[in-house]
Amino acid sequence: MGLVAEDTIYLKQLELGPMQNFVYLVGDPVARVCVVVDPAWEIDTLVETAQADDMAIVGALVTHTHQDHVGGTLEDWGMSGRIPGVEELLARVPAKVYVHKAEREFLRGFGSDLVKVDSHDTLAVGRLTLTFLHTPGHTAGSQCFLVDGRLISGDTLFIGSCGRTDLPGSDPSEMYYSLTQRLGALPDETLLFPGHNYGGTSSTVGQEKRQNPFMRFASLGDFLQAMGGGRIRLA
Ligand SMILES: [Zn+2]
Repeated sequence: MGLVAEDTIYLKQLELGPMQNFVYLVGDPVARVCVVVDPAWEIDTLVETAQADDMAIVGALVTHTHQDHVGGTLEDWGMSGRIPGVEELLARVPAKVYVHKAEREFLRGFGSDLVKVDSHDTLAVGRLTLTFLHTPGHTAGSQCFLVDGRLISGDTLFIGSCGRTDLPGSDPSEMYYSLTQRLGALPDETLLFPGHNYGGTSSTVGQEKRQNPFMRFASLGDFLQAMGGGRIRLA
């Protein structure tokens, strides 16, 4: 942990689409291979950015399967149209798609390219080792990625806030434990890279523990009350 030489990791943050999504290219600058975190909105931009940097895309990592992170139809949101995503990426580059096992059913049609993962599974990207962390709450299969002292946090932890817990599949209790225990256990100096630009481009886990109100509730009860009285869990 702590400071690392700049040539240990290739990390590019791209803000794409009208919902301020952050999409990441993460890889090994020596082996010149990278993965895309949450490919959506502008697949050409992602592919061309990697090409221009002489990095080969070898995988797609999914923090969760909401359409603004993986693409898909907007029918569920009462809108027409489609967001380009994983499907369009795989039409351009051969890549495996890594999704938490709890959300595997939401990604259809990728056959053997789809890899189900669980917490503490690891993936080698060149010389780098990336660790999957299951952080349910926003969705049942939400996951974060830890690589070289950096946390890519999807819609679990934002700078100064956290992901919504009032959506189908959300669970505010799990969000509390994800924020305060699963992510709260990480070293303070861990660099934070969130899934949306809601409060800046990056932070640290320590700064969020000190300043993010959603990481600072003393009890689950207090958290649930703040998140809307604690919804009744069905099934
Ligand atoms: Zn989401």
